Amino acid sequence: MTALSSSAALNADLHCHSTVSDGTLAPEALAARAKAGGVQLWALTDHDEIAGQERARQAALAQGMDYLTGTEISVTFAGRVVHIVGLGFDHTDRQLTDGLRQTRGGREARAKEMSASLAQAGIHGAYEGALKYVGNPELISRTHFARFLVEAGHCSDVPEVFRRYLTEGKPGFVPHKWAALRDAVRWITEAGGVAVIAHPGRYPFTAMEEYALITEFIHHGGRGIEVVTGSHTAADATRYTDTALEFDLLASRGSDFHSPEESHTDLGSLPPLAGSLTPVWSALSERIHRA
Ligand code: AMP
Ligand code: MN
Ligand code: MN
Ligand code: MN
Repeated sequence: MTALSSSAALNADLHCHSTVSDGTLAPEALAARAKAGGVQLWALTDHDEIAGQERARQAALAQGMDYLTGTEISVTFAGRVVHIVGLGFDHTDRQLTDGLRQTRGGREARAKEMSASLAQAGIHGAYEGALKYVGNPELISRTHFARFLVEAGHCSDVPEVFRRYLTEGKPGFVPHKWAALRDAVRWITEAGGVAVIAHPGRYPFTAMEEYALITEFIHHGGRGIEVVTGSHTAADATRYTDTALEFDLLASRGSDFHSPEESHTDLGSLPPLAGSLTPVWSALSERIHRA
């Protein structure tokens, strides 16, 4: 391993979404965009799905970027949704592929319930409307509903749809039970990967609840936390730098890029991790597919 490939200064972008989940670009187009953004080590992390991994890996290598396999698993913890990113796993692992399929399983029924609930609020045809934006029939997400509601003129942008319709307590929100934290971490870890708490600054947890999340995550074998992400402010990055050091967690960096129209943080454009951190990629050097 060269010094740069384990360094905090490497331009690694280890969190983004393609048309295989709720992004608007195909894996190949994302790879080209990552390359244009200066990314040296890339991972595609579609929600609850790894069907894009082979395409992403080949596109990354063709662009001259190193590649880590990735996914972002939806988890229910303390009654809230938490996202766990997995990196560097064997994407043919049976337990992982079965677990992800099970996690995706409830999405279609949930989408129909969301549509019925939006209809009561006067918004009709949302299920069919959202489906027009779906690239993977097993992965209909709130983001696809949001795009339809903007198209139909109910809101002016995607964040407004989430604020008015798609978050807890709002008319189109349907509670859903996702994977257990223990299972998500185990699927990733037993497939040879590292589990990472995604965008910790985004959860509405109290300090006690966050402490419980981190300690249980570590207890189940989780080893990483996102410090620099498109979902964090500079203050969040400082705060989770301290958290990573305090809990001896590997630090990750990723834009969480979804779409040129909707995402504020482009692939490869984030500030680097602090030099005091141990980057997650330094623990995954054996798992990196080299260009
Ligand atoms: P789902 O997995 O179907 O519950 O959808 C979750 C996705 O919705 C996330 O991965 C984000 O892409 C998107 N999302 C969640 N909250 C917001 C928000 N407040 N504004 C915009 N997009 C959001
Ligand atoms: Mn998303
Ligand atoms: Mn997420
Ligand atoms: Mn994400």
